[in-house]
Amino acid sequence: ASGYSLLRDPHHNKGLAFTEKERDAHYLRGLLPPVVVNHDLQVKKMMHNIRQYQIPLQRYQAMMDLQERNERLFYKLLIENVEELLPIVYTPTVGEACQKYGSIFKNPQGLFISLRDKGKILEILKNWPQKKIQVIVVTDGERILGLGDLGCQGMGIPVGKLSLYTALGGIRPSACLPITIDVGTNNEKMLNDEFYIGLRQRRASGQEYAELMNEFMTAVKQNYGEKVLIQFEDFANHNAFDLLEKYRTTHLVFNDDIQGTASVVLAGLISALKLVGGSLADHRFLFLGAGEAGTGIAELIALEISKQTNAPLEETRKKVWLVDSKGLIVRSRLDSLQHFKKPWAHDHEPVDKFVDAIKTIKPTVLIGSSGAGQTFTKEVVETMSSLNEKPIILALSNPTSQSECTAEQAYTWSDGRAIFASGSPFDPVEYNGKVHVSGQANNAYIFPGFGLGLIISGAIRVHDDMLLAASEALAEQVTQEHFDKGLIYPPFTNIRKISAHIAAKVAGKAYELGLASRLPQPENLVAYAESCMYSPKYRSYR
Ligand code: NAP
Ligand code: MN
Repeated sequence: ASGYSLLRDPHHNKGLAFTEKERDAHYLRGLLPPVVVNHDLQVKKMMHNIRQYQIPLQRYQAMMDLQERNERLFYKLLIENVEELLPIVYTPTVGEACQKYGSIFKNPQGLFISLRDKGKILEILKNWPQKKIQVIVVTDGERILGLGDLGCQGMGIPVGKLSLYTALGGIRPSACLPITIDVGTNNEKMLNDEFYIGLRQRRASGQEYAELMNEFMTAVKQNYGEKVLIQFEDFANHNAFDLLEKYRTTHLVFNDDIQGTASVVLAGLISALKLVGGSLADHRFLFLGAGEAGTGIAELIALEISKQTNAPLEETRKKVWLVDSKGLIVRSRLDSLQHFKKPWAHDHEPVDKFVDAIKTIKPTVLIGSSGAGQTFTKEVVETMSSLNEKPIILALSNPTSQSECTAEQAYTWSDGRAIFASGSPFDPVEYNGKVHVSGQANNAYIFPGFGLGLIISGAIRVHDDMLLAASEALAEQVTQEHFDKGLIYPPFTNIRKISAHIAAKVAGKAYELGLASRLPQPENLVAYAESCMYSPKYRSYR
């Protein structure tokens, strides 16, 4: 290959880091200025450049440009500055990027499969340059973060999630494939936007939708085999639960919004118990939002309590209550409830207002998973604080604009007593002379390590016990030093080490359940997981 094309190949480009010898051997002389710099200095310079931008979206674009120019530099930057760059390539900025994707769009990323491609999906998969794929993140764009239907412009989400698979979980970038299935959009703004990049039609549903998805799922398995992980991301709940149910017995599928979120929240609760005391079974849980995230978390909590106490699920579910847009979910509503809400319809008279539900249920843990911002009002937080010495309050909705409350509100309204974490990050808050650092209850802690665990064990199916294993592994990573700051999650700084621990526990569970195909089982799974992780170090070209 010519030096010119080497500089334009993001997988191989090293920019100014090409050595004198490499410049001679690969026809690069003259195509670069004379200076030779090392990888570390390149990181320093890029961070300096990125910090010049005051607007998050500009930082996002600078990161995307870098990813397209020099992949190893992109990942080194992300790995070494994860706390600073996560809010750029992930929530909240990625949400804004999706909203404006049509106009900021430069080079296409990932694979777009639309209704027009019916009958040709296998061919399309073959157009992708990489053949060995280990993880696919797929969306149909119908529920992007808490921002709703963004149609084809949801592509920012699979792209962002997969860059975390690599940076946080060590999956090789070439083994990652972002996919957007475009079945139309019901978002009027998109349909009328002259820069919109997707099909300009209303969403397909029913049989037409199911057939396209089925062709996709079949083609993926045919093309990549049994062990490719398919992560469903940001589907609307009316499709998400059905897809998971339909394919969990035939494919290696994982729904991040239902399962990943459940695992990360359970981890946070397990570690919060060290601050508030008692066991999970001693607590009462109330959710605002009974969709994918809410019912997914609820089910994993009930499952864990059931494992700990030997009580049947039907009993342990009664410790968990959910509120949706129509009020508290109770028995009298049973007939009109979507199927995933039915297990949560307990005996109780109807309650319309969320605050009233808090007053009657008296939860110790409050979880926001509705996608509706500012719903944990002063009255809500004060009520929780009057019922509990240390109320546990999780505001999971993303991006920041949809957060149930801010960290500052949670600490102020609870007089500094809340144990708080949120889906999108907040800066530390000083209240009454004490600095409160809130954790980020985000599935980004779980899915990269979870996926790595599946891959290194050659798992062929996902089992709920693997989610519990991942929760335990994450909770174990929270130290006294973190607790002292009020954190129930470890900081993201050490996330690769955390991911290796999660991967090891998940892989261990896969072996235990007979779902692992990589034999023999490695002796030290943590060490093995670490040894499998991608490193962004430059290779030398001779
Ligand atoms: P979803 O399946 O659409 O569920 C939303 C639920 O909230 C529904 O039950 C809906 O009620 C209810 N709801 C909406 N507005 C409400 C309001 N004003 N008052 C009461 N209930 C309301 O969505 P999801 O997948 O669960 O996601 C919800 C949010 O969680 C999103 O913002 C998403 O970004 C966030 N999330 C965060 C993480 C994380 O890691 N932190 C992970 C996944 C999702 P009806 O059923 O009555 O319509
Ligand atoms: Mn999601």
